Amino acid sequence: MSYALTDRHSRTHRSLRISIVDKCDLRCTYCMPEDQHFLKREELMTREEIATIARLFVERYGVNKIRLTGGEPLVRPDAADIVRDMAALPVKLGLTTNALTLHKHLDALIDAGLKSINISLDTFDAERFKTIARRDGIDTVHANILLALQRGLRVKLNMVVMRGVNDDEILRFVELTRDHLVHVRFIEFMPFAGNHWGRERVYTYSEMLGHIGSVYSFEKLNDDPHSTAKAYRVPTWPGTFAVISTVTEPFCGDCDRMRLTAEGKMRNCLFAREETDLLSALRRGEDIAPLIEANVLAKHAMLGGLPQFKPEKEEEVLHDLSARPMVSIGG
Ligand code: SAM
Ligand code: SF4
Repeated sequence: MSYALTDRHSRTHRSLRISIVDKCDLRCTYCMPEDQHFLKREELMTREEIATIARLFVERYGVNKIRLTGGEPLVRPDAADIVRDMAALPVKLGLTTNALTLHKHLDALIDAGLKSINISLDTFDAERFKTIARRDGIDTVHANILLALQRGLRVKLNMVVMRGVNDDEILRFVELTRDHLVHVRFIEFMPFAGNHWGRERVYTYSEMLGHIGSVYSFEKLNDDPHSTAKAYRVPTWPGTFAVISTVTEPFCGDCDRMRLTAEGKMRNCLFAREETDLLSALRRGEDIAPLIEANVLAKHAMLGGLPQFKPEKEEEVLHDLSARPMVSIGG
């Protein structure tokens, strides 16, 4: 039997993000605290456990979209096997990666059934990349983006826009959509544990659109019903760009996402303060369905129950977000 989960706002939850590992081969300042500790291997969900939990979400709760993420999913040796398991399910499958080692995995990922990939890229400048990611690697990442396009994958590029860090590169990213069939997403810098967030560093989505519009005319595209991004394109250019305005204009009313951390904890919101430990229950041989249902029912109407990111609430919000850095939630 298949039935949809609905929360008290009568919203169906069809999209599941699964973090398959919390480690990463980059250490982006906006994502990973300097003193980050990682899970031990036995604490991570195994390939089989990921498949069991994902299948339950799909078969019982109608999930039709799965995105694999991390940490960096490609640091996990069995990443392509996990992709294969997910691709066998009736879902739209995606993977989010920093693309640092994509060239080594691309054949296996495509063979496993991957058709769509999100790649994080915040700058075209080598020194900046080193400052943001705390590692070298920009040339490899650029080459791997082109490789993914050449191999026919649908490619979205995620840029976290930070004032005074990379906001002067927005137009260059827009121009990528003239030269390539690529979908650029400009993401407002969000606060998470240990990422030195400050309101003054958020380059807002209205500033982004104003800046782009001062040089290029663009048109609005239709957004998917539960999309978190507002999409646009410069007419006649093959690619598109979108803005994700979590901080200045949250889109919680349309959000249909559920999340699973690498240690099998379910989160009903990116900003959730409560988690449900599905993996321990699964390992004890218990039925995890009631846990999933209770987790969804507990979903807050907005921002995981945080007060909005208003200046007067800032201290409260930052305190409440101190539990998990983005690297161990998965984006
Ligand atoms: N390692 C992979 C990558 O970088 O694409 C997947 C994990 S990463 C946590 C997922 C996404 O979250 C990336 O696109 C990253 O840019 C985004 N992200 C991380 N920290 C963020 C923050 N503070 N604000 C906005 N987006 C963030
Ligand atoms: Fe790693 Fe991705 Fe976070 Fe950067 S954004 S530290 S690549 S998980």
